[in-house]
Amino acid sequence: TPLNRIRNFSIVAHIDHGKSTLADRLIQSTNTVAERDMQAQLLDSMDIERERGITIKANTVRIDYTANDGLDYVLNLIDTPGHVDFAYEVSRSMRAVEGSLLVVDASQGVEAQTLANVYTAMEADHEIVPVLNKVDLPAAEPERIAEQIEDVIGIDASDACLISAKTGIGIPDVLEAIVKRLPPPHSGDPDAPLKAMLVDSWYDAYLGVVVLVRIMDGTLKKGDNIKMMQTDAKYSVDRIGVFRPQMENVQELGPGEIGFITAQIKQVRDTKVGDTITHEKKGATEALPGFQPSQPVVFCGLFPVDSAQFEDLREAIEKLALNDASFSYEMETSAALGFGFRCGFLGLLHLEVIRDRVEREYNIDLITTAPSVIYHIYQRDGTKHELHNPADMPDPSTIDHLEEPRIKATILVPDEYLGDVLKLCQDRRGIQLDLTYAGARAMVVYDLPLNEVVFDFYDRLKSVTKGYASFDYSMEGYREDNLVKMSILVNDEPVDALSTMVHRDRAEMRGRAMVEKLKDLIPRHMFKIPIQAAIGGKVIARETLSAMRKDVTAKCYGGDASRKKKLLEKQKAGKKKMRQFGKVDIPQEAFISALKMD
Ligand code: GDP
Ligand code: MG
Repeated sequence: TPLNRIRNFSIVAHIDHGKSTLADRLIQSTNTVAERDMQAQLLDSMDIERERGITIKANTVRIDYTANDGLDYVLNLIDTPGHVDFAYEVSRSMRAVEGSLLVVDASQGVEAQTLANVYTAMEADHEIVPVLNKVDLPAAEPERIAEQIEDVIGIDASDACLISAKTGIGIPDVLEAIVKRLPPPHSGDPDAPLKAMLVDSWYDAYLGVVVLVRIMDGTLKKGDNIKMMQTDAKYSVDRIGVFRPQMENVQELGPGEIGFITAQIKQVRDTKVGDTITHEKKGATEALPGFQPSQPVVFCGLFPVDSAQFEDLREAIEKLALNDASFSYEMETSAALGFGFRCGFLGLLHLEVIRDRVEREYNIDLITTAPSVIYHIYQRDGTKHELHNPADMPDPSTIDHLEEPRIKATILVPDEYLGDVLKLCQDRRGIQLDLTYAGARAMVVYDLPLNEVVFDFYDRLKSVTKGYASFDYSMEGYREDNLVKMSILVNDEPVDALSTMVHRDRAEMRGRAMVEKLKDLIPRHMFKIPIQAAIGGKVIARETLSAMRKDVTAKCYGGDASRKKKLLEKQKAGKKKMRQFGKVDIPQEAFISALKMD
């Protein structure tokens, strides 16, 4: 395909503003997929994506479109994830395309991820076409939202497309805008040495590792001997094709085109996203500029409730990691929980997605320990290292100082909830950097410690603003603060899976809240159980769970046998989800619930 007949673009939007629905309409209205194969959110393929209505992995589709000028065009769409945890996927898929459709819900307006994503698109030098979606809703105010886009983002929105991705209104205009207003690939010589950008890769049960590429220069054919410029790994291309959105084989891919290859690659880890693929012979000498690698920022332990399932868990985690290079893991042993894995994630949603998949797809009940960030420890002897797990904290007397990761958070919120948002950020040790207005919404920027955010900040923000706030963040680097390890002792035994890093000034408050919660979460036993929070050897909070007086079934007066049986069965089922710590049973949910602050 000649360059001037190719348009490569992505769709960017805040979550729920309708990107996936728009992608569906574009695919449908160009007959890319037969009507009978059409199903909602065609590109959201994972079950969890469908269930939660979010897009996790970026997806690609090639659309053939005959424009009003009578010419045939190839449109390559890359659908990007909208959630903050996956911001990295957004930024790398943007590098493979030249333009973006900026979808904004005309009844909601600009939100935090609208801004974050559009700025990423601008950084990638994209041409941007604003699209106001959901004009079918009575609450839609396209004129006002167009003005807001101009005010807040600073791009011209006077000729924004007004559409309803749901009903199909305005879809032909979007297709024309893609052809007329987005640029073709800037350059590309079919006879030059091959330079293909490795945009993404994943593991497919039938095909092995599939690699998504964008050809910059040269031509890639089936059977070609290729080489990854960063790793110097060599392969022979055994399949080459495009997504419609199903895989379809093609003879070759030329400049400006986007497609996939398979080449007997063993694991996703062998393919470095951002790497340049070239021919083994007469290849390019200079690589394309790489991408920033994604780094896990949140760590937690995953342990099987039933220790006999450890090998199953290992297998599940290894399989998931094959398909997700941003997920890291290493074996961990805990005195309380036995064998498990310490896993690293891009954020909390990423953590939840992986945990859900292990539980659901592999049928393993898990204990998830408190999420933690990475601390930098500077020791008295001059050495520095990273702390991924509070349980590994060295003796405090050997430590000179500790640094913690900070983020820059941008929150958009209707005026009436601003006070609550400021209070929440203040309570989480935030430092206000900026406060401006965009229409009736306030935009606040805060410098916050990541450890105060990873846990339940997003839930709290949603609840204090009745769901009206939107939130985005970026990593800002490390800063020193007065941080200590808080241990929890149940029945005088430390439970390592409950230890956390806290700010010294908040330790008493957090400790008190945790022991109170645990007192409610741990069932009564035949003996009384002290629950304590301690820093070093010093107890800072304490509760006592009193002993159970009678058999729980005594209440049933012995008469109703079936009821009694039911109660015992329920107890047994409850037991399954518990682990023994010394003589005490702690329910699985306690490990997460105990840390929630409210
Ligand atoms: P995404 O998170 O940006 O991919 O958003 P989705 O495409 O998943 O859409 C989010 C929700 O908005 C879904 O329930 C859609 O059915 C709904 N939606 C999308 N477009 C429209 C529209 O034009 N009008 C209305 N009324 N609802 C829409
Ligand atoms: Mg979506």
